[in-house]
Amino acid sequence: MTSIVQFSLTDFVGYATLPVALIVFFAIKSRNKSKFGLNFSRVCCPSCHTKQPIIRMPQNERQALYGGWTCEKCKTEIDKYGRAVDAENQEIEQSPR
Ligand SMILES: [Zn+2]
Repeated sequence: MTSIVQFSLTDFVGYATLPVALIVFFAIKSRNKSKFGLNFSRVCCPSCHTKQPIIRMPQNERQALYGGWTCEKCKTEIDKYGRAVDAENQEIEQSPR
């Protein structure tokens, strides 16, 4: 009987590891402001400070994949963390090391 209980416990730990690993992964990515991170706070346009809508319609492939907005007012491309994105869809480096 003891062996069955131990097997179930091991099984449970095995299944629980994956979601925990995913949560940790997204937490780290969000902290690093990576493309794979998540941002749930409201974002303002870096140029004209217009609040961007919560519901967004992707204007291009990058926005569909990684999130972000095109500002309604000044057409600035914004990533999901509220940083401006240049024409080549490359994230502008905030500080070049
Ligand atoms: Zn704007």
